[in-house]
Amino acid sequence: MKIICIGRNYADHAKEMNSAIPENPVFFMKPDTALLPNKSPFFYPNFTKDLHYECEIVVRINKLGKNIAPKFANTYYNEIGLGIDFTARDLQQKCKEKGLPWEIAKSFEHSAPVSHNFLDKSTLDLTNLNFSLQQNGQIVQVGNTKDMLFDIDQIIVYISQFMTLKIGDLIFTGTPAGVGPVAIGDTLTGFIEDQKMFDLKIK
Ligand code: MG
Repeated sequence: MKIICIGRNYADHAKEMNSAIPENPVFFMKPDTALLPNKSPFFYPNFTKDLHYECEIVVRINKLGKNIAPKFANTYYNEIGLGIDFTARDLQQKCKEKGLPWEIAKSFEHSAPVSHNFLDKSTLDLTNLNFSLQQNGQIVQVGNTKDMLFDIDQIIVYISQFMTLKIGDLIFTGTPAGVGPVAIGDTLTGFIEDQKMFDLKIK
């Protein structure tokens, strides 16, 4: 399986990063080794001094598809989860300055923890879905899918022009504003609406 992550999909986050609003979805990838085994702690990597959380709605693909037409895009997923797109912000900044790819900042081991549970999309309003992240019990990020620049269907249509989507692929749909640093000892807790989706310890 593969993990595809959308960048700059919330205008308020693009603004906090001093990034332009994109004309098309911007995406990058993480390998399957970026997943964190269920209930494992996350170990702060030694190659960064500025690790950031980015809490994101995650879509699991349930059907093989390429060049997916807009009217069929919503038949390619049934389940919605929540994840963290961990980012070594200091390395990412250096990559950006040099115009280099982002992999060392984004695609490292366990950089994509995802909730064990996924929710059936038929129980959710995907056009108006609240999600949030707490750091040590304090709310640090609040997002709503209505603020996505590109909705899930548009993302699937766009990506599938370039690569086949396969069963089990995960799409991280972008983070809202409020990204920030984590420290060893922190606990990150993610919610979709009032439902706790994960509790992640940083060691
Ligand atoms: Mg992200």
